Amino acid sequence: MGLCQHQDCQKEALKLAEQVCAALKVRFTEHRRRVFEIIWQNHKALTAADIMQEMENKQPPITYRALEFLKDVGLVHYIVSLNAYVGCLHPKEGGHVGQMLICTKCRTVTELMPNSVLEGLDNEAHRVGFHPAQVHVEMLGLCDGCYGKA
Ligand SMILES: [Zn+2]
Ligand SMILES: [Zn+2]
Ligand SMILES: [Zn+2]
Repeated sequence: MGLCQHQDCQKEALKLAEQVCAALKVRFTEHRRRVFEIIWQNHKALTAADIMQEMENKQPPITYRALEFLKDVGLVHYIVSLNAYVGCLHPKEGGHVGQMLICTKCRTVTELMPNSVLEGLDNEAHRVGFHPAQVHVEMLGLCDGCYGKA
C-alpha cells in the first residue's frame, strides 16, 4: 500500500464504514469511530495496546468492545500472527476471511481481494478429505518499500 494517497484512502474508509454501519442498522458511535480512525492512520497493523495508547479514554474495555464491534461488522481484520488489527480494504464485499500480506519489518499489511486465494485452498482441502473449520491466510515477508533495504 506504499503508493496510496493516504488522506483520500482514510476519507474513503470512513465513508465506507458509515455506509456499512447504516446498512446493518448499527451505530457508529464516538468510540467505535475513534478506534477506526486510529487503525486507519496508516496501513500498519496495530495491537490493542497500541490503539489504547492513542485513545483519549484509556479504559481497556472501551477499546476492546469497539475492536470487537469493528471486527464483527467486517470493518477491521484481526491478524493472528501479529496479535494485531488492520482496517479491511474491502468492507463492501461483506463478511470474509482476510487474505493478508504482512511486512515483518514495518508491519504494513495489504489485503488481497476476498476469496481470491481461499477458494482454491478450500477446494483442495475438500479434495483431500479435510473439513475446515477456521482458516487464516497470512503471508509474511517484506513490502516493496522495505525490500532490499539494509
Ligand atoms: Zn492508504
Ligand atoms: Zn477484508
Ligand atoms: Zn515494510
